[in-house]
Formats: sequence, C-alpha cells, structure tokens
Amino acid sequence: MTRRKTGEIAFRYDRVAPEKAVKARLADSPSIATPLSITLGGVKTTYEPSRVIASLRTLAERTGGPEGSRRLAWTEEWLKARAFMKELVATLPVTVDEDEAGNLWVVLRGKSEQLLVVGSHLDSVPKGGWLDGALGVMAGIELVRALAAEGTPEVSIAVVDWADEEGARFGRSLFGSAACVGTLDIDGLKKLVDKEGGKLPEILLKHGVNVDQLDGAKARMKNVVAYVEVHIEQGPVLEKMGKGICTVSGTKGIERERLVFRGQAAHAGTMPMEMRKDTFVAASRFAIALQEIGRKHEGVTTVGHAQAWPGVVTAVAGETRITMDMRHIDKGHLEVMFREAHEAAEAAASAEGCTVEWQHIFRIPPMPFHPKLLEAARTSVREVEKHDVELPSGALHDASEMARQVPTVMIFSSSIGGLSHTKEEDTSEAHLTMAVDAFDRTCRRAITLVVNGDLR
Ligand SMILES: [Zn+2]
Repeated sequence: MTRRKTGEIAFRYDRVAPEKAVKARLADSPSIATPLSITLGGVKTTYEPSRVIASLRTLAERTGGPEGSRRLAWTEEWLKARAFMKELVATLPVTVDEDEAGNLWVVLRGKSEQLLVVGSHLDSVPKGGWLDGALGVMAGIELVRALAAEGTPEVSIAVVDWADEEGARFGRSLFGSAACVGTLDIDGLKKLVDKEGGKLPEILLKHGVNVDQLDGAKARMKNVVAYVEVHIEQGPVLEKMGKGICTVSGTKGIERERLVFRGQAAHAGTMPMEMRKDTFVAASRFAIALQEIGRKHEGVTTVGHAQAWPGVVTAVAGETRITMDMRHIDKGHLEVMFREAHEAAEAAASAEGCTVEWQHIFRIPPMPFHPKLLEAARTSVREVEKHDVELPSGALHDASEMARQVPTVMIFSSSIGGLSHTKEEDTSEAHLTMAVDAFDRTCRRAITLVVNGDLR
C-alpha cells in the first residue's frame, strides 16, 4: 500500500511548493517521463496533479475514517463533501449552483457558450473508498482552476458533482446524470424507500429536490457539447497488465432481472427425492449454466442474491428468488447471452418440475464512447504512459448516461488489488498523477475538437 496518512500529505502539501512536490514524485517514478508543463495546441497547461491528490486527501480526512468514506448521498457527510468542493472553487471566476436534480454545477465561462462538461460524483457507498467518484470531481476542479489561470478558455467548462451516482441509499444509481438526460422513471422513484423506511421524495425535498420538477434538469444539457470523466478502474485488469492508466472504450450494457422459481414446499424427511419440485436446486442449475454463458461470450454474469422459502432446514424450498446481472460491451453478444439465459432458466426449472418467472429490474445498452474523443484519449494516454491499452468499463458511470446524448470519453487509473466500494480501495500516487495528466490532455484536445467543429 502506498497510501499515506492524510495528515502526512497535508503536511507535505502545506510546506512544499506543489510544483516541487510533483517534480519529486515524477522523479520517483521512471514510468512518467512527462514534464510538468506541456504544450498542446499552443497552450501551456498549468494543471497540477499534486493539487488533485492533496484535495482527495483532505476530502478523505473530512468525510472518511478508519471504516472508509461516509459520503452517502442525501446525508450530512455528503453535504460536507460538497461544502469542501465549494471551498475549493471559492476564489475562482466561476458560478456555482444546483440544478433541479441536485447536481452541483461549477461553471467557468469561456469565449463561447458551448459547454465541455467534466466531473463525476462525491457520493460514496457506506464504508466506501476515497477515490471512487471523488477523483473525477477533484480532477475537474483542477482543470477549471488551470484554465481560469491561463486566460479565458475557448469554450465554457463545467465541473459537475452528479447527485447520488451510487444509488446506495435508494437503489437508483446514476440519479443526477440520468435526470439531465431524461432517463429517470419518476413514478418508480416515488415508491423508493431507504433502509430506515425514509421515502425518497421526502428525503430529496429536504435537499431542495422536488421529484415532480426533475425534468427541469434537462435544460442543463442545452449547450453541452462533450463530456470527459476520469475514474478509477475498480477492477484488477490494469494492475494485472502492469499499467497505470488506459482509455475507456465505453461502458458495458447490462441486463438485470429477478427470477422466481416456483415448485412445491415439502417435508425434508418424507418427500422422496424423485418426487420433489425443489426450486433451490432449479435455481442452482441455472446459476451454473449462467456462469458458463458468461465465460463462453467473454462477458460477465452474476447471481448476486438468492432467497428460498419457507427457508427452514427441514423443508424443500417451494419458492426461490434469485437476481441475475449480465454485462457485455457488445450489443449482439449481450442479446445472445440474454436469450441463452432464458433457455437455461427454462431447462433448469423443468428438470426439477418447477416453473420460472422473469421480473425485469434494469437495463442499459452498451455505450461505446465517441470515436474522435477516443482518439483524443488514446493520444493522451500514449503521451503519458506510452501504450494504447483500451478497456471497456464493467461498472456504470455518469458517463454512461452522458454518452446517450453527447460525445463522451473516459480515462481509467489502475486500482490496487482491483478493490473498490470498500475502505481498502487505493491507487498509487504515480498512477493517479498519470490519470489526471491524461485527463487534462484529453480535455484540452476535446476543446480543440469543439472549436474546430469536429464533434458535431
Ligand atoms: Zn464511481
């Protein structure tokens, strides 16, 4: 683990000029051959990765602890994180406000109204990591700071803290970004409750968000011409490849369903094996078949939850409910996987004399990112780490929603041990530095693409 205690980094940051801190770090890591200032399209960037890392450490200090991050959306700790974000931009020539969905917008006016949006989310899962989401927001703030310091940018820039990306409290992830592109199911939202029985509409209203006015957030997309997000991978692939960063080709499509197997509950001692309608066995047959479907198509398939009734040691399970999550970057593969899962469920049910019913939970198609922005990201990754590695994202991000409407791209940093959504989540400072550096370069290339009319 290379993670330092937050106190230590604050000390270093306070007493060492940021430029020196970065140079020292760059000298430590031979893989980063990048000078502090780079010139892109005649513009010298003053972007300082060390500021991003220092902000992340301070955020972790204020809203985390030995058990991990506590920035659950729509709670005090989340508001504390947002207050810190406002502090960071307080002296910048920006406007700060919230839209109808509670997304926090920091906007730097440029020469044109065309808007490059960057960002991610400050909210975390309970006992989450210090980087998930926060990296993209802090990297975005540094971009705005650097661009403001360099003069008036060619286009306007917004850094957005999307509200409730995690969906950890009410089960609806990508809340804020979905509101902006209009993919929220408002009636469904009204029925959502948290673990304590708190109703979503009532809790959100306390934060100034009226569920009946969420549509108003769509207006924010009017001038948006591109979206760029930097995020940790949250998986082990980059680390296994020995790489620190990569371009993200898109986010995988997801099919999420609940399967209800119905048979007959019976006495565990008296019902002969050959006469049973055992739904747990049927569900198990399906789970094994689903695993093979995932492997065969190089996708991922998961049964993450199972519950059997009556759920006692002395009874055959008369009903078993399981969840299924399947993901693939290719639409065609995902469709075939979904069809094969249906066939497998039918076969599993009938083998045990049971029936199966499918209940839809969630679906999002694969979101390949924009070709021109992908090229910009690839060039940037090549400059920073000298390779062309590109991975699809297995996790959803706010970029998945943005990609529905505007040219979008993402950059990943590695994740130590592939861990995320846990307090052990971490990434080396060398890799964080490379990721935000590549993000800065990608954003500047995105601005050039917008100015040249190449993203239309
Ligand atoms: Zn995230």
